[in-house]
Formats: sequence, structure tokens, C-alpha cells
Amino acid sequence: MSFLHSSLSRAGQAAKSAALVFCGVAGLARCQLAGEGAVLAFHGLRADGVATGVSDEGLHLRLSTFRAVCERLAKGYEVMRLAEMAEILERGERLPERAVALTFDDGYASNYELGYPVLRDLGLPTTIFLATGFLDGDAPLWFQQVDVAMRQGGRVGNTRTLGEALAHLKRLPDEVMREEVRRLVESVTMPLDEPEVMRPMTWAQAREMQEGGLVDFGGHTHTHPILSRCGVEKQRWEIRMCADRIRAELGAEPSAFAFPNGGVDDYTPETLGVLKEVGYQSAWTTVCGRVNTARNRMMMPRYGAPESVWEAEATVSGAFDLVRRWKGGVA
Ligand SMILES: [Zn+2]
Repeated sequence: MSFLHSSLSRAGQAAKSAALVFCGVAGLARCQLAGEGAVLAFHGLRADGVATGVSDEGLHLRLSTFRAVCERLAKGYEVMRLAEMAEILERGERLPERAVALTFDDGYASNYELGYPVLRDLGLPTTIFLATGFLDGDAPLWFQQVDVAMRQGGRVGNTRTLGEALAHLKRLPDEVMREEVRRLVESVTMPLDEPEVMRPMTWAQAREMQEGGLVDFGGHTHTHPILSRCGVEKQRWEIRMCADRIRAELGAEPSAFAFPNGGVDDYTPETLGVLKEVGYQSAWTTVCGRVNTARNRMMMPRYGAPESVWEAEATVSGAFDLVRRWKGGVA
């Protein structure tokens, strides 16, 4: 979901990425971490030079950056289907050299309108994790509603910024959070704007991508709650409803799931039980790290969307992880 960050830290990250690649750490990492892979998590995309109308622009990567990253990956990496990656690891086998998988969360129209033409041109497979209520039109993404309502003057308690408001809301039990969001939306007298970037893809667009053979669809709940803030029955309903809607609209059984928000505290042992009950083969977090046979298939790591080609290279090659391992951290 949301990766709010300061432009300053992104600039530092970009410089560090370039330095790592120039110093040859990326090449070294590719050798040392052979047999492991990397998965990238994108959300929406935005056309260059067009105002998004949302405050959390980091959620919608600029199209030119996305294209440049994909071109680099197509040239230098083995971009494979996420499900295939999970199957190889399930057999206890090493991944092919330079294995990378691409994913998108939520189901934005921009995935189809801007991202799909790039993926099709380059022949890159991807998995899109759908919040099915977002596509159905009965559950707008609550964090996007908060973004837009605050831009229109709404306030959440004593919080002053979108980052503070989201941090506060994410800690609440799901039904309390929904009530706060409902009050916020009602407090804005004008009807809520619906910026272009917030639109969901249609089921027809999803079907077209599926029929093209490059795009798989996974589950991401129906109304995008943080699952650990829900009781187990609500969790079961969210996970089942989502799988039912994907099956009904696309005629395919989803095999991969992405946790909303995706942090280590955003799901519970019960969540993993329900996912297995529903038939999921793998589940994906937003915790950074390499994908390898040692990982629990229901708690797999993913990296956030890189904001430059250099950052993509330093991330997927494993250069960032290698440096962290050298420093004694956990990769
Ligand atoms: Zn999400």
C-alpha cells in the first residue's frame, strides 16, 4: 500500500544505488546471491507531467521510470511469473540466474492503461493482486479516500499530515477505522474528487490482460483491511470473498496472495491458516529481502517500486542486501 517517504531520502537512495552499481557491487551480488531472486511490488502508475490530484504520489510511479526499469530488467534479468518462482522454491530448487518477478497491488486502471502496453512490448509477465471490492465499485480504497478528503480540508483527529493520519488509522481495529474514514468523508462538504490515478481497472480489462497470457491475478482481500486489525471471521470473509470474485470474473483460481499494507504486524497466524484453507500456494509481504528456498512460502518478501533504473539494479541484483549482510544486518 502506501510507501510515504521524503524526497530527500529518495535522492540519497538514488545516489547510493548509482554508487553501488558503479562500484561493481551489483555484479558481485549477482554472483554471491545466485539461486535467489527478487520480487518488486508496484501500485499505480502516472503519466509524466500530469498532476495526480493525490498527496501520496509515491504510490503511482511515473510511467517513464517504469518503462526504463522494465527495459533494464528485460535486457539484464530473467523476468519470470511469480507463480513459477513459488513452484520452483516449493520443490526446494534454486532459482534461475538473475530471477525477478513483477507484481502490482490493488488493481488500478493505470496498470492496464499505462503499464500493460510496456509489459506487452517487452514480453514481461506480471502478477496483479486485486482488491476485488475496488474493482466491483462497492469498496473504494479507504487510504485514497483519506488522501483526497484531507486535500479538501478534512482532518483525522489531531493529525496534521496524511502520513500522520494514515499511521493513526492503521493502528485502529478495522471497524473503528472505517467509522473514522466515513466521518472524515462526510465532514467534507464538497463531493469527493476522484483523481484519475485512483480509478480501478474494469473486470473486462483484467480479462483482456489475462487472455493475453502475460498477466496473472492474485488476491488482495475484498475491501483492503489490514487483516491483523480484523477478527478471524472477518479475515475469512475478506479472503474468501476476494477469491470467489476472482474465480467468478476471471474463471481462474488465484494461487498467490498479497497482504494489504504487507508489514510483519499486518497479518496473524490465523491469516496464514485461512489462506491455506482457501487454497493459496504463496503469500507476499512488503518486507524487503531476497526470495530463496529458506523462506516460508506464506510470508514471502518483496521490494517496493524502485524510483530509478539505478535503484532497480541495486535492488534486484541484491547489492543493497549484500551491503546489509556485510554490515551484519539481516537481508
Ligand atoms: Zn494494497
